[in-house]
Amino acid sequence: MKDYTPPKKPLIYYYLIGMLILMILNVLFFPQILSAQVEEVSYGTFLTMVDEGNVTQVEINQDEIVFADDSDPTRYYKTGPMYDPGLTDRLYDAGITDFGTPVVEEMPWLLSFLISWVLPIGIIYLIGQLFIRSMVKKNGMGGGPAMTFGKSNAKVYVQSTGGVKFSDVAGEDEAKELLGEIVDFLHDPEKYARIGATIPKGALLVGPPGTGKTLLAKAVAGEANVPFFSISGSEFVEMFVGMGAAKVRDLFKQANEKAPCIVFIDEIDTIGKKRGEGGLGGNDEREQTLNQLLTEMDGFDGKKGVIILAATNRPDSLDPALLRPGRFDRRIPVELPDQKGREDILKVHARKVAMEPNIDFGAIARVAAGASGAELANIINEAALRAVRSGRDKVSQSDLEESVEVVIAGYQKKNAILSDKEKMIVAYHEIGHAMVAALQSHSAPVTKITIIPRTSGALGYTMQVDQGNHYLMSKEEIENKIATLTGGRVAEELIFQSVTTGASNDIEQATRLARAMITRYGMSEEFGMVALETVQNQYLGGDTSLACSAETAALVDHRVVKLVKTQYEKAKELLSQNLPKLHSLAKYLYDNETITGQEFMRLLEQEPAKLPSAESEDRPGQPRPL
Ligand code: ADP
Ligand code: MG
Ligand code: ZN
Repeated sequence: MKDYTPPKKPLIYYYLIGMLILMILNVLFFPQILSAQVEEVSYGTFLTMVDEGNVTQVEINQDEIVFADDSDPTRYYKTGPMYDPGLTDRLYDAGITDFGTPVVEEMPWLLSFLISWVLPIGIIYLIGQLFIRSMVKKNGMGGGPAMTFGKSNAKVYVQSTGGVKFSDVAGEDEAKELLGEIVDFLHDPEKYARIGATIPKGALLVGPPGTGKTLLAKAVAGEANVPFFSISGSEFVEMFVGMGAAKVRDLFKQANEKAPCIVFIDEIDTIGKKRGEGGLGGNDEREQTLNQLLTEMDGFDGKKGVIILAATNRPDSLDPALLRPGRFDRRIPVELPDQKGREDILKVHARKVAMEPNIDFGAIARVAAGASGAELANIINEAALRAVRSGRDKVSQSDLEESVEVVIAGYQKKNAILSDKEKMIVAYHEIGHAMVAALQSHSAPVTKITIIPRTSGALGYTMQVDQGNHYLMSKEEIENKIATLTGGRVAEELIFQSVTTGASNDIEQATRLARAMITRYGMSEEFGMVALETVQNQYLGGDTSLACSAETAALVDHRVVKLVKTQYEKAKELLSQNLPKLHSLAKYLYDNETITGQEFMRLLEQEPAKLPSAESEDRPGQPRPL
């Protein structure tokens, strides 16, 4: 599937050049067509020329005399009429007897215009058309004339058996699962129609560059075996206002005809940016295009089987209207791969390369922490190039190790990749949260812990799942939650005897909860059920404003500090009592980067000595923990 982009040189340039050539030709070579050049001379000169016998032709009109002279047949002269009764005799003497025939063949105005302008333009246009058509044919873009403006140049892939499949995409299980449902729908829309379920019209693949978003979209088409229209957001942005919108219209028209099918808009942020931004004048063209896209997405029938996939790595810049229900309401995160994912991606790409047996992909994946799928693919390729360069026919472990450095050195500056020490700190921090949560009877167990940096900027995170009723929280539950929030910092302090900036978000949340307990939930003894704060704009962020005296406010601040401190002490107590577990769990997280809730609970309940961390100690290539 080689992407072909049609020649985009604006045709108008060719026309302008054509016109210019035409003008020069007109002036230089066909002067007589263009109401020929006629030079005005004095009556005396005219008479002299007649007497000299050079004049060959004369035409006497009411208001002028036009004549030609044989020294230069392309030139004509004219002179004003003069009352001269002797003129006819003089002309007769010179041998000129016909004064009526026009000397300069004046063409009718319309005809001359047609011949000198319309005809050549037509010819140039035709040549242009033929030229473009032959170009298009040469490039294998069988199909319509490229001159029709406003046609979407979406590339249509009707998948052959050699198309991309889900098995070509390693890792990204969550994304594959979500997309699998779409494939299922395209296979058997009846099943969904019978029950009255509608599949989402659109899904938005969100994630950092190179994580396989485009690849996943192609895999969906490959699995579902339906036509796949692929267009990049930037291809909608045209020179002429209104063209982008026309392209969108055309794209959806084509898609409707080919349903069931998939329309894939890559890099949708190019057209999907928030409207009304961008300062002076804005960008009307882009807005029009976006509006058209929104209209089309609302317009088509979801049951027909047109699925719109889009990909972006800047979801926060998208216009909220795009994310509304009925449009791209399903968001599919495509995150950077973890240790296992990296290993699998390396293996997928290694299939195409001759490798020495017993390559340790795990070790390579570990050194390439933070690399994206595209970078891992690149590592394999670099290694293959290296092997060729040194005249071997198989890629070796050391080729891979060397190429990691080549590829990673390039991107480590771009992405904020954690150093080993930072990674260690983040691992302890997250395990601190999770352990405090799990060790308090009322706290919800964790579902997932990861130390892969997120696109959001968080270095790691612990996802907690609340059991049972979400809407009511008891005082103990909130207190436990505050303790959990402090758990990260506590772990850092216990292990490293120093603290980092990584806990700023935890601190903010803990403070907010503690404050709300006192001022809004009536959970303190001093104040009881008195509202000290009111919430405004519940749907727009929920700002609070104090409704109490300055003295009370000072007291509240005091209480908040005390409350958080108490919970901090509690968390410290819990973690100090379980230091061995904290160590082994943090090490396990450091090695694996992501662990699920079940894994965590299993390890927490095990005896520390049996943790798998001991066995991983002597793996090659593994960064030494602190
Ligand atoms: P994105 O669209 O997210 O920027 P691409 O889909 O263009 O990334 O990925 C670029 C290349 O990286 C792919 O063609 C593929 O070779 C490789 N790649 C990325 N992610 C994966 C993955 N999960 N499994 C296998 N290959 C991957
Ligand atoms: Mg892409
Ligand atoms: Zn934290």
